[in-house]
Amino acid sequence: MKIGKYELYPVETGRFALDGGAMFGIIPKPLWQKAHPTDDRNRIELAARSLLLKGDGRVILVDNGNGSKFTDKQIDIYRLDTSRNDLFRSLRNLGVSPEEVTDVLLTHLHFDHAGGSTVRAGKELVPAFPKARYCVQKAHWDQAMHPTEKDRGSFMPDDFMPLFHAGVLDFIDGPCELFPGISLELVNGHTAAQQLPKISDGTQTVLFVCDLFPTTSHIPLPYIMAYDIRPLTTLEDKKRILTSAVEEDWTLFFEHDPGTVAGKVARTEKGFAFREAIPFGHSNAHPS
Ligand SMILES: [Zn+2]
Repeated sequence: MKIGKYELYPVETGRFALDGGAMFGIIPKPLWQKAHPTDDRNRIELAARSLLLKGDGRVILVDNGNGSKFTDKQIDIYRLDTSRNDLFRSLRNLGVSPEEVTDVLLTHLHFDHAGGSTVRAGKELVPAFPKARYCVQKAHWDQAMHPTEKDRGSFMPDDFMPLFHAGVLDFIDGPCELFPGISLELVNGHTAAQQLPKISDGTQTVLFVCDLFPTTSHIPLPYIMAYDIRPLTTLEDKKRILTSAVEEDWTLFFEHDPGTVAGKVARTEKGFAFREAIPFGHSNAHPS
């Protein structure tokens, strides 16, 4: 897909699985299990799908999946599966080397979004994209430095402290136009200051919806993850973003949906619903 100066490519970094109940909060299992079958440990399959933007002299990677630093125990708990694709193989398939990435936009620092930011080099942890600037919201950084007892487990300092020590991290303060044609929407319910990049040329708009709508099943308003630190703020975030998405006909890009890369939403009697999938160019997504 091309929008303005940018070519957009989905980048599959591997599959993983999280507890289905945690993914759907208060929603009873019979309402979601058909679309998201559980395994013997009640986990559902999730994609960890990044977005690559090429154009205007930049190669921008939005999020980078779970990375390669998990212990065997974590690989088991989160059912991490990189047998079919991982971050670097998918980038290579798109003709992009790690050295060519100019910017890494981190929506937030949870391990399934920022895990690919660093790699092991001997005993050291170093930035995975040696020539890139990495950016995150300042208010989110403060949350990552001082997580609550509830969200501490979502932050793995090895994903981001090496970036800080290498001096490659830029802190952004609030919504803004980051690059021409790429602006940032801020939402505060899932975590503090999650930034959602919006790519627009005035006619077409794609919003990377990250953990505001992890899957297409999360479009209806009460479908809110148990992970969120402020669920009622998520509810308001969802209403605001969905209203704009319907009025301005945005395409939403899903980071975690195992089967749908992107699509559009509609207003319904009860609120909002997923309307239709939109083809999004080449993706090496695989059916589960
Ligand atoms: Zn998250």
